[in-house]
Amino acid sequence: MKNIRVRFAPSPTGALHIGGIRTALYNYLLARKTGGTFILRIEDTDQLRYVPGAEEYILEALAWCGLQPDEGPLQGGDYGPYRQSERKAIYADYAQQLVAAGWGYYAFDTAEALDVQRAADPNFKYDAAVRDRLDNSLQMSPEELSRRLASGEPYTIRLKVPQDEVVEIEDIVRGQVAFSTNELDDKVMLKADGMPTYHLANVVDDYLMKITHVIRGEEWLPSTAHHKLLYRALGWESHMPAFAHLPLILKPSGQGKLSKRDGAKFGFPVFPIGWQGDTAEDSFQGFREFGFDPAAMINFLAFLGWNPGTEQEIFSIDQLAQAFSLEKIGKGGARFDYDKARWFNQQYIMASDDEQLASAIRPFIEAQGHRPDDDFLLRFTRLMKERMATYAESYTNGRFCFEAVDSYDEKTIAKKWHAGSEALFSSLREQLLQLPVYEAQHIQACVEGFMQANSLKTGDVLPVLRIALTGSMQGPAVFELMALLGKKEVDQRFSQAFNLFVNFVATNK
Ligand code: GLU
Repeated sequence: MKNIRVRFAPSPTGALHIGGIRTALYNYLLARKTGGTFILRIEDTDQLRYVPGAEEYILEALAWCGLQPDEGPLQGGDYGPYRQSERKAIYADYAQQLVAAGWGYYAFDTAEALDVQRAADPNFKYDAAVRDRLDNSLQMSPEELSRRLASGEPYTIRLKVPQDEVVEIEDIVRGQVAFSTNELDDKVMLKADGMPTYHLANVVDDYLMKITHVIRGEEWLPSTAHHKLLYRALGWESHMPAFAHLPLILKPSGQGKLSKRDGAKFGFPVFPIGWQGDTAEDSFQGFREFGFDPAAMINFLAFLGWNPGTEQEIFSIDQLAQAFSLEKIGKGGARFDYDKARWFNQQYIMASDDEQLASAIRPFIEAQGHRPDDDFLLRFTRLMKERMATYAESYTNGRFCFEAVDSYDEKTIAKKWHAGSEALFSSLREQLLQLPVYEAQHIQACVEGFMQANSLKTGDVLPVLRIALTGSMQGPAVFELMALLGKKEVDQRFSQAFNLFVNFVATNK
């Protein structure tokens, strides 16, 4: 079998949303599975939509995800350049070839003239039904055409789509899809500025780069009909790649396509890494900033539209490549379930090495203005490991390890704090202060001895200690937490909290 060559071909028009990363991933997985080649091609021929910084974003996002291309603008390769703007000269020849073969023509219609057509008919389409009343080379003598070309008048080259034909596409995901050519317009191939359109550049490059499989989002399926005609027109039909159009990623409700605005709306990331746009509305945090392990995000994305057909859910990227096949991609839209993403990340966190996890967490703690030493951070990490689904949650769920408590669960205190509590808990404080070694098991022995001596139950004591230390009933094991905070800090918290509890219960009687 010939070497499989796949490409990820994003346009640098802004931040790449996770649907794009999933496309890159499936391409990557097929290449890795088959010993093929994964190519990155930057499709930047649309100058109007070009956004500075977007290409850098794409490269950084792919690197963060571990999806390194084998060939691309950074890596180079035998089929470069890999940025379409640097291939401009290549495309014009093919546009001319279309004209020479009777598959293309020059169109001189101005934008204003076409606007007039659209105003008269909202469904206006430049196609076989109307092209003979428009201003193109099909209606001109060779002399007139030469004269107008020589005069420097701007023109585009359009594809001459045949009438009354059916274009059939064999899609690996969707099966056979048919389009009537009467539905297709005579798409522009070469623009007046000499730049190719997406369609021409995409097909020419897929051919020249020897692409064997085109794996891309479902939104490109209708374009494939034009692409197939182009392969025919250029005499490349036998080189046509296989197509696999990936299902849409849907909103959490399952209704409608997930959009980049949904992130802000629902409070979850829809981009791999953050993007700084011109406005706050156009700036986003990514999975990276939310505190995801990229491997967990990749594992999650792999399952948005594909599954291995077994119960196994946790896959490293190499295991994904082993298990992957285009045939197991589903047709139906894949619902974006953020809780599932968090679940994946939590599995990765629980399986990770404590030291590595501590370094992953550090930036999230430092961003809150805390600079714990390595030992404290490692102990904190161990304590919180099972209590976070993202690195960021280590702080949100464990901020009391770094900061004093500023509000207490008063409802529980009202139930647990009684007339005699002050004296009792003061004596516990005294005993804890006497401990020569302040580690969890010593603290536990001390508290248990105290409970026994005073005929108290765990439920009488631990909730009070927990709330005094963290403010709420949530949090890690109390004795471990006390050992982490240290004798002095614990005693300060007890002192402050117990005083408040006394006042609180007094004023609420
Ligand atoms: N440049 C197109 C995009 O931005 C590529 C589509 C394709 O893969 O053919 O998605």
